Amino acid sequence: MGISRREFFRISGAGAAAAALGLDFTPVAARADAIPIRFAKQNTTICPYCSVGCGMIVHTLNGTVINIEGDPDHPISEGALCPKGSSALQIRDNGARVTKPLYRAAGAKEWKEVTWDWALDAIAKRVKTTRDATFVPTSRIKVKGKVGDKEVEKEVTAVVNRTMGIAHVGSAALDNEECYLLQKMMRGLGLVAIEHQARI
Ligand code: SF4
Repeated sequence: MGISRREFFRISGAGAAAAALGLDFTPVAARADAIPIRFAKQNTTICPYCSVGCGMIVHTLNGTVINIEGDPDHPISEGALCPKGSSALQIRDNGARVTKPLYRAAGAKEWKEVTWDWALDAIAKRVKTTRDATFVPTSRIKVKGKVGDKEVEKEVTAVVNRTMGIAHVGSAALDNEECYLLQKMMRGLGLVAIEHQARI
């Protein structure tokens, strides 16, 4: 029977590590056996946590997610998930999950639940106010040029149309199309500080 290098390391590494640490995976195997995935509907998706973009299979039964595991057919992760991705089921089934926007006014101690309409309006108003107050259409910059054979430096007025009053942080969970639209909007507003959470 052929065995790939990856499989060899996985099997020997997992077994040796478990033995060395005195771990017993019997309950884990029993729990896995008890999940009725053979009756479930399968959908493939991408882990939302980081930019590695590991592939996942989501099993649903009667509209409820009952299991999420690595997708062995995914070309990047080949079935593997890190501990964070492996616990992705908790994103959905978690009593501590925040599902509505919360707002804490300046100086207040308590967060209060608000509607999405209220939250989006509040954000839009603040973006507009800050952008208008900090927008810079032009800036004086130094450029090098030649007068005859002599190299000189002179100051000119350049159109910059920028604001340094707002920054934007993207997410590894954004897809190409969302990134494109966000870039269009942020650059249109004049933002220069546009970053990505995975680079911070
Ligand atoms: S499983 Fe882990 S490594 Fe893979 S995308 Fe999710 S968080 Fe990143």
